[in-house]
Amino acid sequence: MTSPVIITVAITGGVTRKKDNDALPVTPSEQIESTHACFEAGASLVHLHVRNDDESPSSDPELFGRVQEGIRKHCPGIIIQFSTGGRGREQSARGAMLYLRPDMASLATGSVNFPTNIYENPPDFVEGLARTMLEYEIKPEIEVFDLAMLYNAANLVKKGLLSEQPHIQFVMGIPNAMPARRSVFDFLRSELKEILPSATWVAAGIARHQWDVNQWCLEAGGHCRTGLEDNTRFDKTRLATSNAELVVRIVDICEQYDRRPATVSEARKILGLRAAA
Ligand code: ZN
Repeated sequence: MTSPVIITVAITGGVTRKKDNDALPVTPSEQIESTHACFEAGASLVHLHVRNDDESPSSDPELFGRVQEGIRKHCPGIIIQFSTGGRGREQSARGAMLYLRPDMASLATGSVNFPTNIYENPPDFVEGLARTMLEYEIKPEIEVFDLAMLYNAANLVKKGLLSEQPHIQFVMGIPNAMPARRSVFDFLRSELKEILPSATWVAAGIARHQWDVNQWCLEAGGHCRTGLEDNTRFDKTRLATSNAELVVRIVDICEQYDRRPATVSEARKILGLRAAA
């Protein structure tokens, strides 16, 4: 039987500028429109950053709220995931919008070097964000940028700060962080199976690695992440000219791997999320 794959689309990110890729949605209306096209194409989860008028990364809850509202209206049932990522945002601001209760939020469980900076996630900060997500009934997506973060996630489960069925994302191919190598991918999955057997998982390949990693995930029974956030970072690789086109690329090859795009209600069930309001 074909198994459903949750296709996540990371539509904007916090790094790329519109001048580097005109297809990048940065205003709330562009973001809602882009998400809608992805939803129609088969995406069931949207990963969201918002931008200020000057395109700098924003933590403004008002903006997050506006985009969330538009997406809920135009893409009924799609899973909304807020980024708590650090690019250009103070630690204290990174969880400031969580009271808006998105379905999910990203949670990196450790610090790591990025190409030109340190992505800082000290232990007390990680635990604080995890507590806030528990309080608002937001399911974290654990972002594993480097190996230790996987074991840190397992420790959070032991401490009761994460559910027994966490959703884990392996992020592969950021310069200075974990490389996008098949051997690493296989190792991560076998470790995950051992230490967090009921976890669901997805992997994101950055820049030119996006497409390879999409195919590895389909083959290995995981979920997929695509989108201009990952695809246009750090190099000039352009797999497509829009987010929806990237989603379609995955949808088009699902059958080859005996997979099909999950509907939004299937995706919610797989991740143990509440049904859409
Ligand atoms: Zn992101």
